[in-house]
Amino acid sequence: MVEFQNFLRELPAVDRLLREPPVEKLLGLLPRRLVLPAVQETIENCRREIIADQNDPAKLGAIDLSPAHLAEKAVALAKKRAAISLKPLINATGIVIHTNLGRVPLAREAKDALAGVAANYNNLELSPASGKRGSRQEHLEQLLCELCGAEAALVVNNNAAAVFLVLKALAEKREVLVSRGQLVEIGGSFRIPEIMAASGALMIEVGTTNKTYLRDYERAVTENCAAFLKVHTSNYRLVGFTAEVDSAELAALARQHNLLMFEDLGSGALIDLQKFGLSPEPLVQDSIAAGADLVTFSGDKLLGGPQAGIIVGRNDLVSDLRNNQLARILRVDKFTIAAMEATLRLYLDEEKVAEKIPVWQMLSMGEDFLKARAEKIAGQLSSALKDAEISVLRGISRVGGGALPAAELPTWLVALKPKNYHISAAELVERMRKGETPLVLRLQHDTLLLDLRTVREDQEQTLVEMVTGAFYSNNT
Ligand SMILES: *Cc1c(COP(=O)(O)O)cnc(C)c1O
Repeated sequence: MVEFQNFLRELPAVDRLLREPPVEKLLGLLPRRLVLPAVQETIENCRREIIADQNDPAKLGAIDLSPAHLAEKAVALAKKRAAISLKPLINATGIVIHTNLGRVPLAREAKDALAGVAANYNNLELSPASGKRGSRQEHLEQLLCELCGAEAALVVNNNAAAVFLVLKALAEKREVLVSRGQLVEIGGSFRIPEIMAASGALMIEVGTTNKTYLRDYERAVTENCAAFLKVHTSNYRLVGFTAEVDSAELAALARQHNLLMFEDLGSGALIDLQKFGLSPEPLVQDSIAAGADLVTFSGDKLLGGPQAGIIVGRNDLVSDLRNNQLARILRVDKFTIAAMEATLRLYLDEEKVAEKIPVWQMLSMGEDFLKARAEKIAGQLSSALKDAEISVLRGISRVGGGALPAAELPTWLVALKPKNYHISAAELVERMRKGETPLVLRLQHDTLLLDLRTVREDQEQTLVEMVTGAFYSNNT
């Protein structure tokens, strides 16, 4: 019977491990407060292992207590801890607006603008004309007015904040009418009834789940009514026996009763999706033209910019919002403004949008091009991988991010099915997700699916390396 206490006694002390050459070397590269806990944890893990295996001499005997071995483990752990947490990855899911993966990549122009502002002082709140203090919103307002046909604009932290600010500043303690068909939940935590309650506006539901008519709104108007809110049901579709009041009719009724009409457009398209063979999404400029008093939408969905909430509409109302203390609380930083300005400028030349803004580049990518890329990658993988059946097949990409839920974008997928079963498909997915450049893809039954729509051409080489690497490495 092996005495496990002897094993415990043999465990090297922290100081001993700190003097091991690989650990000493690492201390020259990484902060001590990162290395020391890794060393302590490595010893502690080993101690637990000994205690757990105390009645199993074979297992106990297999535990390597040498300082060299433990030092190596501690170094690996410290290096893992030292790696940056938020980092780029390759999205091969084919879901274009992917909230968990940062929604959308920015255009090169936006990236360059960000880098310039990050590394330098800038004129964030300095009016170039007078040299006096200016508003940070000035960098965006004119552009937004021009693109949306609106009188005024204000940009805040995200669209949830935009909706909240509008309700709180303009309808607190007053009634706001919403169709029962538009009480949506977006991304788990944004729910119309809850955002209304939090803002202090009193939500009055009108119509039914599937049908709401103009007369439903009209009948519900009272003395204490402030506004109608129209919400774009961005992430689900009501089909079949349905009726919704259009923006122009609702805006006209609001005016007639001296009420406001707000529209939450969510995905906020500025260009017509039908150009790319997709079903139409309401355009911001159409809602403004239809008479909405204020329209809110996201900066990082179909607009393809940074996270932000954009409010456009009547000058007097935007001015009230700007003067509200909440606008200060929800204000955007210089990075958002830099990336947003550069993105919006690209919309001035509509012909260039599909070429320059990644979200539109991806949405408009042609099937033939996708097929050619899939075949090329499949070819490269086939010559590098002996342990997978590789094929190219038709599939569907998604817009994602709660926009166009029903849209099916035809695509071509590279399918990899591990054979010989030395490793499962699920394990491969995990290895790829944990790789040096993480790769996220689809897993269907026991087949890995790569959709190149969301992969840039300059990432293809890395993608091939990450996939092959996952098959032939075993350090998960
Ligand atoms: C996405 C969405 C929101 C929330 O926007 P964020 O920018 O994610 O805060 C609100 N309303 C609608 C209709 C949306 O689609």
